Amino acid sequence: MNTEKTKTAEERSLNFIEEIIEADLAQGKYKSIITRFPPEPNGYLHIGHAKSICLNFGLAIKYGGITNLRFDDTNPIKEDVEYVDSIKEDITWLGFQWANELYASDYFQQLYDWAHGLIAKGLAYVDDQTQEEIRQTRGTVTTPGTNSPFRNRSVQENADLFTRMKNGEFPNGSKVLRAKIDMSHPNMLMRDPVMYRILHADHHRTGSRWCIYPMYDYAHGQSDSIEKITHSICTLEFDVHRPLYDWFIEKLEIFPSHQYEFARLNITHTVMSKRRLLELVQSELVNGWDDPRMPTISGLRRRGYTPAGIRLFSEKVGVAKRDNLIDFSLLEWCIREDLNKTAPRYMAVLDPIKVILTNYPEDKLEHMKASLNPEDASAGERSIPFSKELYIERDDFMEEPPKKFFRLRPGGEVRLKYGYIICCENVIKDENGNITELHCTYDPDTKPGTGTWRSVKGTIHWLCARHAATAQVHLYDKLFTEADMGSLPEGADYKEYINPLSHTTVQALVDKDALNLALQAKAGKDNTRVRMQFERLGYFVADYNSSDTLPVFNRVCTLRDSYAKTLKKG
Ligand code: ATP
Ligand code: MG
Repeated sequence: MNTEKTKTAEERSLNFIEEIIEADLAQGKYKSIITRFPPEPNGYLHIGHAKSICLNFGLAIKYGGITNLRFDDTNPIKEDVEYVDSIKEDITWLGFQWANELYASDYFQQLYDWAHGLIAKGLAYVDDQTQEEIRQTRGTVTTPGTNSPFRNRSVQENADLFTRMKNGEFPNGSKVLRAKIDMSHPNMLMRDPVMYRILHADHHRTGSRWCIYPMYDYAHGQSDSIEKITHSICTLEFDVHRPLYDWFIEKLEIFPSHQYEFARLNITHTVMSKRRLLELVQSELVNGWDDPRMPTISGLRRRGYTPAGIRLFSEKVGVAKRDNLIDFSLLEWCIREDLNKTAPRYMAVLDPIKVILTNYPEDKLEHMKASLNPEDASAGERSIPFSKELYIERDDFMEEPPKKFFRLRPGGEVRLKYGYIICCENVIKDENGNITELHCTYDPDTKPGTGTWRSVKGTIHWLCARHAATAQVHLYDKLFTEADMGSLPEGADYKEYINPLSHTTVQALVDKDALNLALQAKAGKDNTRVRMQFERLGYFVADYNSSDTLPVFNRVCTLRDSYAKTLKKG
């Protein structure tokens, strides 16, 4: 029999990064592992980042290591403290704790000193060519580049010029520091890549101390190395950067961090680059970064998604080596998995129509019993008031129903969930022919747990008029109509594909107990918010904009994947 130890990696279903880590640990390459999550504070985090967070923090937890949070703040122009704060809030909300909060900008002095070290070794030079000239002399994939006329400056001249660059003697764009590698290298990124540029701009942390800033490739690997990151995990598009990552570390003779790439997470019906998300916010196509339709973590949080659901999703998606597109319904499935176990059940009616039980005593009030959550025995019971006046969902009644309609119809019967069977006797309309009330009779022998059980085909949800309160309810759907937003036709503008039905608002009626529960906990954008199931309608959460006078709910998701069903039907 296979014990856990003798099983192969495949049998234990390790992903390829776990295989590498286990091999490294087995060979004694590292005593323990250190990973990092390295966001650039230039926007809000999205579900793709959540994947990276779950992976980096998850690996450290699994193998008893630690994870650093490192802000990759090397570009002073686009970065902001607002983003730093939101990133920390998001990671904490997802349930992870970083060992150290670090900033690439804290390493500016060290990086600068190291750059001088490379200059001294003849491995870096100051180039006076313009950005355009540098681009044009880089060659193409099939043709080599040409050497810069400044490539053979002496070590002394380079050291002097680089110092003066740092001292602010030159204007933006007039000089750069480049690594001296090989202008005919098959990997274009190795053709004397730019290490530093001049940028007279204030940085959100270092202020006006620096006017030269390191490029990603010179900053990232060195930051990893300073922190002794053992496994530096990034997305696939960085695989071409790896030789350069290794080159700097080798030439500087510093701690050998290693970079590993996995496939970016892409999800159907959404876009995931910070640039596009920013554009959606700025052009007011959505209501801010935390619009519940946004794939941002703050949006998903406001929508009512749970950290556990998102972590489950990250696990299900796995770690792929090739780019792929994950169906949005998998994310919703994971959220449902979590909420099904944790969300108390209540009833609400989104589009109410009044029902009068003509044979029910005027002043009588009964209390039906039901479990708060049938999936959780410890959740306890709820008591559901029942009286002569009720509300049901407008579309649970049809005057002229098609064959397989098992809900309420004139002369037909239906069971009110946890309550009696009722029969529709009379349809009351206003002068325009709109139905205003249904007059029904109830069968007193059909109360659950009493009398003789009689079954009818349909069961519908309802609310007692005395126990119903008005609330604004937001219903959400996919943000974009197209599944694969990454392969739109040439020249297409992704903004044209916004789903006009992605957000609708209705005035609904909600069980007063549910409402009180939601309002008690409303305050937070945080974990304390109560998500609840409104039976047959889906999972809901109170929005932080709720007030006592206007309670607001967001629908987290429906109970079943109605979308997948429509797809199947074609
Ligand atoms: P975007 O392209 O959306 O603006 P980014 O890669 O520029 O994102 P960073 O702040 O640089 O954003 O990313 C921080 C970390 O998150 C990086 O390690 C990056 O590889 C990872 N990451 C970003 N997007 C995804 C994604 N869609 N799937 C998995 N990991 C991602
Ligand atoms: Mg980036």
